[in-house]
Amino acid sequence: MARFSGKVAIITGSSNGIGRAAAVLFAKDGAQVTITGRHAQRLEETRQQILAAGVPEQNVNSVVADVTTDAGQDEILSSTVAKFGKLNILVNNAGAAIPDSQGKTGTAQSIENYDATLNLNLRSVIALTKKAIPHLTATKGEIVNISSIASGPRSTPEFPHYSIAKAALDQYTRNTAIDLIQHGIRVNSISPGLVATGFGSAMGMPEEVSKKFYSTMASMKECVPAGVMGQPEDIAEAIAFLADRKASSYIIGHQLVVDGGSSLVMGLHCQDFSKLLH
Ligand code: NDP
Repeated sequence: MARFSGKVAIITGSSNGIGRAAAVLFAKDGAQVTITGRHAQRLEETRQQILAAGVPEQNVNSVVADVTTDAGQDEILSSTVAKFGKLNILVNNAGAAIPDSQGKTGTAQSIENYDATLNLNLRSVIALTKKAIPHLTATKGEIVNISSIASGPRSTPEFPHYSIAKAALDQYTRNTAIDLIQHGIRVNSISPGLVATGFGSAMGMPEEVSKKFYSTMASMKECVPAGVMGQPEDIAEAIAFLADRKASSYIIGHQLVVDGGSSLVMGLHCQDFSKLLH
């Protein structure tokens, strides 16, 4: 039997990147999935990829919605329960390093950018989780939050608001993990490193620049020791592991780093010691 057979999953931010790969994987592995994002055309591409994988049409619920709005969150949940009758798995994946409207980075980023960034990467997760808890309590379900290695403890000076939001999300994961396990709900999170998705474009990078950024990073061992750029499917497999109670039942409040080794490198490792010492 497929590992998610009989399970119902909501995957936010599934109109692109990591969420799309997770939606395709979950659906192929038997789940009934709600896919969602703001862009109808990109969401339809996800739906078509799922159908192309041989998944029956009735196993997909497609919801065009802004996850930062109350109405969007309500629609995502109510349409899922109306169509599939329950909820087993919530993947809080929608997120972005929203660019500053003036193009500023670092401490020069505006307070409006702070509000928008925390609204998407933190507040919407808290709001949707709160609304999903009664449904997940009924099924003793799973939550997987998508954080980032940008959350710390190393600094990310260029995009402070994004990394602050992800750092707070990590603490939210730990807090909710303990609070909700008493109801049988498991909460865990993934911290991806660099993954080739629409993330760069959402930051305002032109497509070509984004591609160059990813390939250059992957070619530098001090940036990605694995020597290859992470793919959305790499993260999707990790999400599936944490959402699969059979595979990970005793893992609670864990932050699973999936980054090709990026976060293990210290500045001093970037130097060639043989040259420095002689
Ligand atoms: P993408 O830009 O490819 O995908 C982001 C998804 O989030 C899209 O489906 C987008 O849909 C959705 N989204 C953004 N804003 C909203 C909104 N207001 N309402 C509803 N949906 C929204 O990026 P990734 O796949 O890379 O990002 C997925 C997660 O992974 C994010 O949380 C990101 O922070 C995290 N991450 C990514 C890394 C990377 O290198 N790629 C590294 C570390 C973490 P739409 O535009 O249609 O609304």
